[in-house]
Amino acid sequence: MILLNPKAHNRYYPDDESREIMLKTIAFFEQRGKSGLKADDRDRVWYADFLNFIKENEIFAKLLSPPGYGDDNARWDTWRNCEFNEILAFYGLCYWYTWQVSILGLGPIWMSMNENLKTKAARLLKDGAIFAFGLSERAHGADVYATEMSLTPQADGTYLANGEKYYIGNANKAPMVSTFGKMADTSEYVFFTADYRHKNYDLIRNVTESQNYVAQYALHDYPITDEEILSKGQEAWDAALNTVNVGKYNLGWASIGICTHALYEAISHAANRRLYNMFVTDFSHVQKMFVDAYTRLVAMKLFTLRAADYQRAASLDDRRYLLYNPIVKMKVTTQGEEVINLLWDVIAAKGFEKDTYFEMAARDIRALPKLEGTVHVNIALIIKFMPNFFFNPKEYPALLKMDDPRHDYFLFNQGPTRGLGKIQFHDFNLAYSSVNLPNVNIFKEQIEIFRESLLMASPSEAQRKDIDFLLTAGEMFALVVYGQLILENAEFYKIEDDLLDQIFDCFVRDFSKFSLELYHQPSSTPQQMEYCLKIIRKPAVDERRYQSVWEQVHALNNLYEMNP
Ligand SMILES: Cc1cc2nc3c(=O)[nH]c(=O)nc-3n(C[C@H](O)[C@H](O)[C@H](O)COP(=O)(O)OP(=O)(O)OC[C@H]3O[C@@H](n4cnc5c(N)ncnc54)[C@H](O)[C@@H]3O)c2cc1C
Repeated sequence: MILLNPKAHNRYYPDDESREIMLKTIAFFEQRGKSGLKADDRDRVWYADFLNFIKENEIFAKLLSPPGYGDDNARWDTWRNCEFNEILAFYGLCYWYTWQVSILGLGPIWMSMNENLKTKAARLLKDGAIFAFGLSERAHGADVYATEMSLTPQADGTYLANGEKYYIGNANKAPMVSTFGKMADTSEYVFFTADYRHKNYDLIRNVTESQNYVAQYALHDYPITDEEILSKGQEAWDAALNTVNVGKYNLGWASIGICTHALYEAISHAANRRLYNMFVTDFSHVQKMFVDAYTRLVAMKLFTLRAADYQRAASLDDRRYLLYNPIVKMKVTTQGEEVINLLWDVIAAKGFEKDTYFEMAARDIRALPKLEGTVHVNIALIIKFMPNFFFNPKEYPALLKMDDPRHDYFLFNQGPTRGLGKIQFHDFNLAYSSVNLPNVNIFKEQIEIFRESLLMASPSEAQRKDIDFLLTAGEMFALVVYGQLILENAEFYKIEDDLLDQIFDCFVRDFSKFSLELYHQPSSTPQQMEYCLKIIRKPAVDERRYQSVWEQVHALNNLYEMNP
């Protein structure tokens, strides 16, 4: 089974240490049990016990140190970090978040040329420290160009840091807060580290009501020397963007972990509840909602796993991950919301109960599309890839599953962030033509009409500047890429035809839905509207296939329940 089941965790791991980390983490949460988990959530308890567990087992040190800095086996191995991501979110977004912002905080450090700071970070990791990424500012949101945090050069060659950061996770406890700013004299960008314990570091408040500490902090004449500077100028800018390129990928796993746990709870509730002398799962609409939720969740996982392969295979000559990672961010996380919506419609009042995981899931799933660049920001980004994706493919060697135990060097040497529009992709038709299933075939026809419309009824200059118009077109483009990588991965994960075709049943409907949205755009032309109508299709109906997938979902009943 492709879904995580912590009580039967028998995944492939290339080494014993990786397996041990995952099993120990599962055991930590199961021993605490659901009541403890929920009580801490309710009381917004800082997760010192979890961080203590991480420290005692040197887990972040093993998973997040590059070779040469950490212990012999330490490596940043995306394959196993995916697993860890998923497990943490399965138990609670707050545990995932402290790990995630440590990843972000470490990004500019491992990308830096400052060896002393790297050695310091490795030592702190081994001592159980957490890290923070101080990019956002209250007044500027997504507009990082407007950063106001500044470093003012002093006569003695040192600097004074002044300014405020907002929404910075872990900034209450991180001895190295990677802080992004500008030089006061030249306005060039700079990344430096600040220590939360310094007297000129003003930890103003936690801006959220949660177990996390998402800080507003200020630096008042905070002294900085070259020793604390990670990068300057273009390098600092690239470090910010390249860190987010990596970090945003993890948000998909957070959604997958949350949805998986919520699905177990939902099916085990509905399949055992009797109304009008029948089980809730006997209702046809309930079956439909479960089948959609399950297929969408499997699709989320297949895509996110495949995107990891491209991330691991990336090089300066192969930057395809720069399209796939934002799609993980915008698509997988919004699909996560859809999965929870479907499940919540089934379990209804139960989803509010304080002793359910679901109640947390319903709240937390909303965060993922909004953090590290909103859905809009990521669609605006991927649109740049669309012309080359559809009309200018390039041959690449076939890419296998990348689950070998190795450090992913390239993530910390991604090079310049420019030239996105020049990146080429392998021909998406290769994946689509390798499969002959009714709904995949309908989807292929939809893609072809969409592609033709881009040529024959291309967006006008004004439409290209209209973000609202582009967002809908971007959703349609993202769906094509999404389906492609899912087909590529279906083979590796031996997804049977029934399930794959049912996934594309959803995609045919989604493509139709977005096409109708494009039709309704105020600026759509009669020719564009005609193409939109042609794209709207009904999925291929197959009662046997649908029932076989429903049986797979129903089989999840009572399969997993967290210890009380
Ligand atoms: C719980 C939490 C934890 C966080 N942790 C961290 C952290 O550890 N470190 C950190 O640095 N930040 C962190 N953030 C900040 C987070 O990354 C930002 O909230 C996010 O990037 C979006 O900024 P904003 O919410 O201020 O939206 P705004 O930037 O105010 O955006 C407003 C609207 O404009 C749209 N928009 C903006 N720019 C564009 C564009 N170019 N194209 C299309 N639409 C656009 C947005 O989609 C949105 O709808 C955190 C935030 C929260 C809530």
